[in-house]
Amino acid sequence: KVVTRFAPSPTGFLHIGGARTALFNWLFARHNGGTALLRIEDTDKKRSTQEAIDAILDGLDWLGLDYDQEPVFQSERAARHAEVANELLASGNAYKCFATPEELEAMRADQRANKQPMRYDGRWRDRDPAEAPEGAPFVIRLKTPADGETTIEDAVQGKVSVKNAEIDDYILLRADGTPTYMLAVVVDDHDMGVTHVIRGDDHLNNAFRQLPIYRAMGWPEPVYAHVPLIHGNDGAKLSKRHGALGAEAYRDEHGILPEALFNYLLRLGWGHGDREEITWDEAISLFSLDGVGKSPSRFDMKKLLHLNGHYIREADDARLAALVAPRIGDAADEALLAEAMPVLKPRARDLDELAEGAAFLFRQRPLQMTDKAEALLDDESRARLAGISALLSQENDWTLEALEASLKAYAEELEVGLGKLAQPLRAALTGTTTSPGIFDVLVLLGREESLARIDAQAH
Ligand code: GLU
Repeated sequence: KVVTRFAPSPTGFLHIGGARTALFNWLFARHNGGTALLRIEDTDKKRSTQEAIDAILDGLDWLGLDYDQEPVFQSERAARHAEVANELLASGNAYKCFATPEELEAMRADQRANKQPMRYDGRWRDRDPAEAPEGAPFVIRLKTPADGETTIEDAVQGKVSVKNAEIDDYILLRADGTPTYMLAVVVDDHDMGVTHVIRGDDHLNNAFRQLPIYRAMGWPEPVYAHVPLIHGNDGAKLSKRHGALGAEAYRDEHGILPEALFNYLLRLGWGHGDREEITWDEAISLFSLDGVGKSPSRFDMKKLLHLNGHYIREADDARLAALVAPRIGDAADEALLAEAMPVLKPRARDLDELAEGAAFLFRQRPLQMTDKAEALLDDESRARLAGISALLSQENDWTLEALEASLKAYAEELEVGLGKLAQPLRAALTGTTTSPGIFDVLVLLGREESLARIDAQAH
């Protein structure tokens, strides 16, 4: 049975790369009818914060990724990690190293001077611990294979080999008895029954150091799948400069819908032919590690916004109204917003644009005019507004069709194009020069508010 895990370090928000790793793990588990687990790697107590944990959990929840068990907190498992280090020691697969910090510093200085790779030289590997001074502090190091090479059949990267000589006898347990990250990951993955380790390819090197622990313990090895990192549009590793934000920033600042981010992340590094929109159910039934590409993908905010616009148009109006209302403020009326959604949706790429488009509905009289709107309202236009006011106050049927028919007839009577009436009317009704169709605006504002706004500008 397949078991995957997402194992974020809570030192920051759930960034876009982490969200994609989480998504791939989740989809792979769901596709195989397996188990999706979450592990918070909070062993670095100085850099891990509760705020980051909350942001990660919140981001995963928003994306719609649910987990089959309560999250495992790595920091709570230190005793178990130490136990495994001691087992490795007892079985001869690990050893005590009494080298002092000064000694190791001298070793490194030597290596640096001789232009040798800087790594622990195994000086206590075959030494008798009895040679160490009584009560001297020690670390426990893994006895990694000295010769040959280690090969990983990575589900994404293919066959990758590393010479064992390049893998140092790294520390499992520090002198203070605390486990290292490398040990903790392997013990936790084993104890959680993880069968597939799907993560960023910045961890590929770690896999070569982690495998020897599985082998020494006689544990079943997981399948590794190291997914290429996400790069910015310029090809450089994704960073804040590229707008690499946390999931909550895509939600809060950019007004991205979770289904848009879900789809975007899914297709960022994974593909199924040239299929574009993919539903949740399809994603679960189609996802496989074969579809994960080997080259880094590029994050493109424009594409994400384009996709978001698509999902906005598909989204339920009441749901959108509830999401947009807080962006407008106290004046917002959700029912009216929902009613306006069909005419606002076609133009918007994110929730902010929806809020901007809807703002005219909730403006207080007298409306503040943009410069462009003000410029439209010359004497001639204001006189026309007076005419429109007189006309519309006679209008009993306040519907799109009736209003359109009346205003068109009026334009013909004046022998001007409809635009000549619509432009100042739009300025008077919205305070701006861009809005949904003018008849939609009239209907949404209603008779009373429309006439009041027109009269405020007419003379
Ligand atoms: N905690 C690691 C990270 O956030 C992931 C470790 C792993 O997936 O093995 O990069």
